[in-house]
Amino acid sequence: MSVSVNPFPIHLLQSFPPTPLQRIRWEAADRAQIEVYLKREDRIHPQISGNKWRKLKYNLVAANNQGQQTLLTFGGAYSNHIYALAAAGSTYGFRTIGLIRGEEVLPLNSTLTFARSCGMQLHYLNREAYRRKDNAIFLQDLKEQFGSFYLIPEGGSNALAVKGVAELVAELHTQLRWDYLCCAVGTGGTLAGLVQGAGGKGQIIGFSSLKGGDFLHQEVRKLSEAYAGLTNQGPQQFNNWHIQTNYHFGGYAKVTPELLQFIRRFEQENQVLIEQVYTGKMLYGIENLLRKDFFKPGTCIVAVHTGGLQGRLAGL
Ligand SMILES: *Cc1c(COP(=O)(O)O)cnc(C)c1O
Repeated sequence: MSVSVNPFPIHLLQSFPPTPLQRIRWEAADRAQIEVYLKREDRIHPQISGNKWRKLKYNLVAANNQGQQTLLTFGGAYSNHIYALAAAGSTYGFRTIGLIRGEEVLPLNSTLTFARSCGMQLHYLNREAYRRKDNAIFLQDLKEQFGSFYLIPEGGSNALAVKGVAELVAELHTQLRWDYLCCAVGTGGTLAGLVQGAGGKGQIIGFSSLKGGDFLHQEVRKLSEAYAGLTNQGPQQFNNWHIQTNYHFGGYAKVTPELLQFIRRFEQENQVLIEQVYTGKMLYGIENLLRKDFFKPGTCIVAVHTGGLQGRLAGL
């Protein structure tokens, strides 16, 4: 029997008001007679931002229920997930271990400096070791090295993450009627959560932030299946979603002058900060599709601002 010694403030996890919706000013949308709103998930928590908070929520509850005091995860040196998990650990009373892809670079960048200031223990894995991050034997070795921990996969995406993101859609239903729901895609956890939350209604569109993002369709299906296992409902696969794979601007975290110019214009016209890895590419993609008359006139689009502003290029 394990008794948790964490003073886990579970009520804090449940006391977040709905994130606001912001109407987007867009000529391309006006011309197409379409309303576009930004769901401001970036405002959900100052450090545990956007979709990372949604994805962590039920994982924190599960870790606490299992009596685990340590959270271990993986990520790149600029990862929003590492940043959010470190903040969640210090907020909710968990020890955190971050296994970072690549070699240590000193001085630490701002993401890792913040993570360490939250108490996260940082370790580095070369690319070969990092590739084994989901391997059972490798994880067993980690238990021998670090002791017992609650594992949260790269990007925070697992069945419980899907459950957390699905709540976003339930919340949105109380706010307005929508036809299209858009999000950026990294690992696919957020998109899977929106798809499951929507339960077959509307159209859900992901925008891949990676080059060659077609494999992400499979990732979303796998995560949806894992979520079905959790709910004992049997697999619920829906067909009202797809991933746009042509708005990656050269690949993950790559930018072009055109993308940066778009972001500056969007930020000025809407008085909101976005960033260049995820939301900038998604919003560029939506504007481009509006110009191509992709969306049905008279409809309403909600684009999810998944946060991640800690990774916004300085001087963008
Ligand atoms: C992590 C992240 C994403 C991608 O979410 P996935 O669930 O991994 O697809 C999108 N936007 C922002 C700002 C992120 O930090």
